[in-house]
Amino acid sequence: SKERKVALVTGGNRGIGYELVKQLALKGFQVILTSRDSETGHEAAQKLKVSTLDVSFVQMDVDSQESIRQAAITVSECFGRLDVLINNAGVYLDENEKLMEMEPSILEATMATNFFGAYHVIRSFMPIMEKQGYGRVINVSSEYGALREMSSPGVGAYKLSKLALNGLTRLVAAEIKGDIQINAVDPGWVSSDMGGPSAPRTPKQAAESILWLATTGPEGPNGGFFRDGKRTDW
Ligand code: NDP
Repeated sequence: SKERKVALVTGGNRGIGYELVKQLALKGFQVILTSRDSETGHEAAQKLKVSTLDVSFVQMDVDSQESIRQAAITVSECFGRLDVLINNAGVYLDENEKLMEMEPSILEATMATNFFGAYHVIRSFMPIMEKQGYGRVINVSSEYGALREMSSPGVGAYKLSKLALNGLTRLVAAEIKGDIQINAVDPGWVSSDMGGPSAPRTPKQAAESILWLATTGPEGPNGGFFRDGKRTDW
């Protein structure tokens, strides 16, 4: 198609998500910056727009199926296509205590955003990709979601949420047809509100390590887990 490609990022108002929006726009995508909070999301989109980048804002709280459904309708009506979908929104609520001792609500809230959020977003937006027979879905996961990480205590809610996200990646990959690919990626330890100021990677470096998956050809990977462009263990 001669039309410009459209990309959507969840949690695009700050951190890695904001940088993903910026880099996608610099690559020539028409980018939809989504965030749960309209004010911060709008401000972030405005900030990028002034530098002549093509960034639009759409409100989407991935904890709310209704919000996701509305956003999918808006994208379908206003853009008519979706080529790249990045599930970036995430929370880290653990305070390092044991899974068996923490408030169950911490696990539930973490799963709600990091796992069910991505699940519902994929369900709502996949029909747009299926209709056009093309799509690239990227799930921003973590090394913490690797199976080996389940053998040591701590960070249990976060680890389980990313393990489940990785499993979702493989299951959806096995189900989809046509030129649609879905992959998970570990961005490394990145300085952001979540990663903290001493993290060695910048959000810009993280975005670069993720975005090659946005432009893979029809023979590109599907159902993989990557770090810095290389496969990494589940
Ligand atoms: P930040 O905490 O800086 O940003 C998280 C983003 O997710 C914010 O935009 C936040 O929005 C958004 N978000 C949270 N909950 C929701 C929700 N319910 N609906 C919509 N948006 C939501 O984190 P990072 O940028 O560091 O992390 C981005 C992703 O990268 C996450 O999935 C994280 O797990 C992953 N990751 C990060 C690493 C790191 O070292 N930083 C390492 C490995 C993985 P709001 O501003 O409204 O809170």
